[in-house]
Formats: sequence, C-alpha cells, structure tokens
Amino acid sequence: MDEKKKKKIKTIKVDVDKCNGCRACEVVCSAFHAAPKYSSNNPARSRIRVIREPLRDIYVPVYAGENAKAECMGRDKYVIDGKEYEECAFCRASCPSRDLFKEPDSSLPLKCDMCEGEEEPWCVKWCQVDALTYEEREEEAEEEVKPEDVEIGLEALVDKYGLEQVMDTVTRLSLSKKG
Ligand code: SF4
Ligand code: SF4
Repeated sequence: MDEKKKKKIKTIKVDVDKCNGCRACEVVCSAFHAAPKYSSNNPARSRIRVIREPLRDIYVPVYAGENAKAECMGRDKYVIDGKEYEECAFCRASCPSRDLFKEPDSSLPLKCDMCEGEEEPWCVKWCQVDALTYEEREEEAEEEVKPEDVEIGLEALVDKYGLEQVMDTVTRLSLSKKG
C-alpha cells in the first residue's frame, strides 16, 4: 500500500505573558545569521523582534514572516488587557511602510528560517523564561501532480480511444465546468 508523504511543520509557540523583554532572542538570532556566523550581533538584523514598551509593560516577540511588496490598505488595532498596541505591531511582514525586518545595510527583507540546520531554534534555546517553545509535528502532504504523470495518463487514453474521442471529451468537460 502506498504510504502518504509527510511534511514536517515547525512552530514556535509564543507565551507573551512570560516574556520579560530581555532581547536575548534578538541578540542570538542576529549572531547566528551574521557572516561569518557568530562574528557579530545587531538586533536590527534579527528575524525576531520584541515589540517593547517598558512603561506600559508591553513585550511581544514577533517573528519575521513573508515579504509584502506593497503596504496593505487595512490596519489592525489590538487592545489586550486594556493595553492598546500600535497598528502593524504584530504584523510579521517586511513591508514598505516601516523599517522592521529589513537588513539595515541593504534593506533586503529578513525572514525567520527556523535556524535551518539546527536541531532547535537559537531564540528558543536562549529564552531563559520559556516564553518561546519549539514544536514539530508531521502532516500528510498533498499529493503532487506531476506534468509527466498527466502526460502518461493522456497517452494511454489516446492509445485506447483515439485522439478525436479524447479531445471531444475534454472539450465537453471544460464546457460543462465553465457552466
Ligand atoms: S529571550 Fe524570551 S524573554 Fe527575552 S525578549 Fe526574547 S522572548 Fe522575551
Ligand atoms: S528561529 Fe532562528 S531564525 Fe527564526 S527568529 Fe529564532 S533564531 Fe532567528
């Protein structure tokens, strides 16, 4: 029996209540991604940033996600436990509206790569208060349809029923799908 392909899903769970804003995660992330590795650290190059407002007792670690080419039209405003957060505060995108998650010298977007090649992400290892927890799980992957498989299938149909018959059926099917 065919075994379905599995894909590994990596997640870092953030417990905002535990974060004390120490910024160790930012330091180690930037050091891990420095060239050469660990040669320097600069939180501005980190792929995790801690939204930090000590006076209002706000510390929220946010991971860099996908790059957004354009600024989005809608903004979110969050009020949690009576504290109001800046618009865009929790957004993970590197986008034209702000400097967050951009390499300071080149302005190229930064994205968390889960410390590729490491058993456990560095930010998780360095967080002394367990505000960050690493989790891995497996999910069944969608079957990938390869173009060559479709071709082989079509060839077999053409051999059996003839090209004209196959073309008629495909046309009929596509018309009925269009409604
Ligand atoms: S290392 Fe942990 S406690 Fe320190 S800022 Fe990062 S998430 Fe918060
Ligand atoms: S998982 Fe690695 S790349 Fe991602 S933020 Fe943490 S230290 Fe940086």
